[in-house]
Amino acid sequence: MKYSNFFLPTLKDAPSEAEIVSHKLMIRSGMIKQSSAGIYSWLPLGLMVLKNIEKIVREEQNKVGAIELLMPTIQSSDLWVKSGRYDDYGKEMLRITDRSGREMLYGPTNEELITDIFQSHVNSHKDLPKNLYHIQWKFRDEVRPRFGVMRGREFLMKDNYSFDINEEEAKKSYDKMFKAYIKTFIRMGLTPISLRAETGPIGGSLSHEFQILAKTGESTLFYDKKLETLNPENIDPNELQSYYAAVDDQHNENNCPIPKENLKISKGIEVGHIFYFGTKYSEKLKAYVQDKNGNNIPVHMGSYGIGVSRLVGAIIEAYHDDKGIKWPTSVAPFKVAIINLMPDDQDCATKSLEYYNYFMKNKTDVILDDRVCSIGKKLSDNELIGIPFQIIIGKRDLKEGLIEFRNRQKNINKKIKVDEVINFTNKNLEL
Ligand code: ATP
Ligand code: MG
Repeated sequence: MKYSNFFLPTLKDAPSEAEIVSHKLMIRSGMIKQSSAGIYSWLPLGLMVLKNIEKIVREEQNKVGAIELLMPTIQSSDLWVKSGRYDDYGKEMLRITDRSGREMLYGPTNEELITDIFQSHVNSHKDLPKNLYHIQWKFRDEVRPRFGVMRGREFLMKDNYSFDINEEEAKKSYDKMFKAYIKTFIRMGLTPISLRAETGPIGGSLSHEFQILAKTGESTLFYDKKLETLNPENIDPNELQSYYAAVDDQHNENNCPIPKENLKISKGIEVGHIFYFGTKYSEKLKAYVQDKNGNNIPVHMGSYGIGVSRLVGAIIEAYHDDKGIKWPTSVAPFKVAIINLMPDDQDCATKSLEYYNYFMKNKTDVILDDRVCSIGKKLSDNELIGIPFQIIIGKRDLKEGLIEFRNRQKNINKKIKVDEVINFTNKNLEL
């Protein structure tokens, strides 16, 4: 992508209503534009990151055998009346009446719809277990939409639903998701802390919340330091679930079960939540299957959510400095930026294009900053949008056969020889 052809409207200042750093940086770097309270347009740069996050989430779900489908955003109220949640959900649910007077709603979650799909097609224990998911926009009319995409009214969520013959099998499905969640967040460069949670209005008996560490997070977490150094290739959900972790209002230092030297205290942001709720919805919505003995029994269900759009903000909260965003490579909108400080100079233009063409050919996500603007603006815009690896081409350096290379994540700046730029960048991309 050439910057001059792209649509990347950066701003010097954030609007005053943006309170937290991720909200400010997302607006300043031209990732989102608010359309009304808690509802945003995703501009090209924001959409690229959202898609990268979605891709990691999808890959980790598919790896553990979850099957993707797509349910609509608008649902009929009928199933919600049957489940008893049409009244319970209250004002958070956006209710709509269609032209024939039918009561519809913009889905805040999908337990009802998926249970109905399941019960229409599955009748036998032989078809279990099943785990279905989609990545779809949700709407919740939050009392206080704030913090940009972190608490929006319209937001993108990945939600799965598991169906099993009994509690024991359901716990296996739960643990599979638990493991997939940890891997998903680690792939995004984050440190996930799993905590035993309340089940709330979804109901049920078992639930975990996944928070990621960020100095600016809203919750204070108290947890066993072992949770900070997980090996994604070797995760034992039962072991992890036995480690101590609590949010501040649950933590009591007088009866904390682990020694003080193992206890860590950090700020976190909730990015995922999983539940096992047994037969709560299957009984009400008649999702029964025949077991081995020919008895009709309600299936045991779980649901599993990841806040895909919230993660964009959460990752920025975890990775930024006073100049802007510092994207982890796995989610960065572009991996490499080639910044031509002197687009009017023939040598600089030729060299920039040479590198650009190389990375384009090798399918590395690359942006060439070929804008005619001040050097200061060019450098500060690129710091702001946070591309991990920056190749900076200036007239004076080039005359000496040198190029400046910046690693935005590690705050490394160094001059390297013109001929070594490609190899050096590729090596950094592999790390
Ligand atoms: P919260 O306590 O933050 O309101 P929740 O318990 O209502 O979250 P779930 O219903 O479990 O959330 O939804 C799953 C995930 O969806 C959450 O972990 C979060 O990442 C995301 N999410 C929930 N509400 C919002 C929102 N208003 N804006 C953005 N993401 C959200
Ligand atoms: Mg909520």
